[in-house]
Amino acid sequence: MIHEILPVGPLQCNCSIVGDETTREAIVIDPGDQIDDILALIKKHNLQVKQIVITHAHIDHVGGAMKLRAATGAPILLNQNDYALLKMLDVQAAWLGMKAPGRVEIDQSLGQADLVKAGSLEGQVIHTPGHTEGSICIYFPLERELIAGDTLFAGSIGRTDLPGGSFEKIMGSLHNQVLALPDETVVVPGHGPNTTIGEERETNPFLQK
Ligand SMILES: [Zn+2]
Repeated sequence: MIHEILPVGPLQCNCSIVGDETTREAIVIDPGDQIDDILALIKKHNLQVKQIVITHAHIDHVGGAMKLRAATGAPILLNQNDYALLKMLDVQAAWLGMKAPGRVEIDQSLGQADLVKAGSLEGQVIHTPGHTEGSICIYFPLERELIAGDTLFAGSIGRTDLPGGSFEKIMGSLHNQVLALPDETVVVPGHGPNTTIGEERETNPFLQK
């Protein structure tokens, strides 16, 4: 699997480009900003983007989605429980002192156990409410990799004090779904460095019993 991780925008959201080495089909996850840089990487690997997947509707993850859709023709996918947050992008922009990206249109909702695909690559959608109601993680079982959005970070977890957040729900998502994955799974969080499920199970202060 081709996998580029590019931190984008002022909040350095990790945008992932995952591609099939044979068919050159790709999925872009969380194109929050710097779409020109993302397109340059897509061109460098000679990829064709088939899906644009948003882990949750915070502006730093979704802000560049429409520009990427216009450039690639790929549909934008987001869990429907975050549609309300998506309508508040101008409010989110104001909180952060950023320019509002305009209206973002969703082509399809992604729910529990749906698959995202690029060539032979298959990612399973895990609905992990808590950071937001519609937060999802994408699990690539063959590659043993989890794109975690803002649900799990190296040494921390997503904040739950913003609209739609719930500490109880994120703890439920983490213990029942995320920690059910094998220890060797590499976790690519929405911000900051990669980690593994095993490392977080052992050392993350929020996940200790
Ligand atoms: Zn977020």
